[in-house]
Amino acid sequence: MIYFDHAATTAVLPAAADAAYRVMTRDFGNPSSLHALGKQAAKEVEEHRAAVAKALGCQPGELFFTSCGTEGDNWAVQLAVHLGRHRGKHIITTAVEHAAVLEPCKALEQQGYEVAYLTPDHTGRIPIEAVEAALQEDTVLVSMMLVNNETGAIQPVAEVSQVLKGRRSSALLHTDAVQGFLKVPFTPKSLGADLVTLSAHKIGGMKGSGALYIRSGLRAEPLIRGGGQEKGLRSGTEATPQIAAFAAAAELGYKHRDENIAYLQDLKAYALETLQAKVPGLAVVAEGDAPHICAVSLPGRPSQVVVRYLSDKGFCLSAGSACHRGKASHVYGAMNLSKPVRDGMLRLSFAPSNTRDEVDALAEAMLSATRDLVAAGR
Ligand code: PLP
Repeated sequence: MIYFDHAATTAVLPAAADAAYRVMTRDFGNPSSLHALGKQAAKEVEEHRAAVAKALGCQPGELFFTSCGTEGDNWAVQLAVHLGRHRGKHIITTAVEHAAVLEPCKALEQQGYEVAYLTPDHTGRIPIEAVEAALQEDTVLVSMMLVNNETGAIQPVAEVSQVLKGRRSSALLHTDAVQGFLKVPFTPKSLGADLVTLSAHKIGGMKGSGALYIRSGLRAEPLIRGGGQEKGLRSGTEATPQIAAFAAAAELGYKHRDENIAYLQDLKAYALETLQAKVPGLAVVAEGDAPHICAVSLPGRPSQVVVRYLSDKGFCLSAGSACHRGKASHVYGAMNLSKPVRDGMLRLSFAPSNTRDEVDALAEAMLSATRDLVAAGR
């Protein structure tokens, strides 16, 4: 299989798998236990927290391990509205967020909150003017992702923080950086973000693992109450194998970040050029500001059919976010694309393990897809 779906998930890096295996089979203690194995596990969790914090550019004490990016997003939204409960019931987010932000916002609408869903331009980017126009005195949260998972667009999160400062707003700024972590250089401080969500399985860690950055000084509310782990904010025995894998992947990704970014930028540019040259009718819809994601379309050819055809030929790519499970993408829907272009959308997402030869093979397969599917009348 040739895999171009790294925004959906990545293979676990060998170093991350080794770290998890060691923790599962040898250093498997419960960090809350008082004996030597427990103490060793507790020490390692803190070392792993420090490693992920270093890769993110924050203090270890500002990073809380979660079970996934979805949990981090839900927690961030809940935390911001709880802290802002005496100030207002207005939220700003975007129409192109992941469901992990959109669904909690929709639930809050049922509780009387007003939510502004800002729409992107045709490239998938949110204009900063839209944030300026939507900001109200009673806005308690602006939640804007750093990198969109279906277009690769980088959103103007740092500019939003400037707008909030300029208007003396006390709204908290959350960014879902699940797709941006180690793909785009940033720190929570450089963005001016109060809350930042990460997920391990997008960077070579394991599924079921993530983290939420909570700026020091924010009086966070517990997400899960119980045994008091994660400074009492997120109880539950720490998922030590997943945390060990997350740290190993983050350490490696941070060490090689700049060279990986350069490689991915070059590979994506090659892919876009090759696909446009070899596949008649292919349209580049979003080049993607982030180095690893772009979106193209075979207008009028249903993407589900093309994805299945390519899968049969040994290629994995997707018709948008894996989370849609076959439903039309709300991201492409928000971009004001013509129906044929929207119907034919395909997302490509790369990792440093991908090669130009794989791109060449994909171009050949897409060319045969256009021929075979025309012949089959689809
Ligand atoms: N946010 C974005 C932008 C994502 O792409 C994803 C996963 O696809 C998530 C959140 C959810 O992360 P997880 O799969 O760890 O719950």
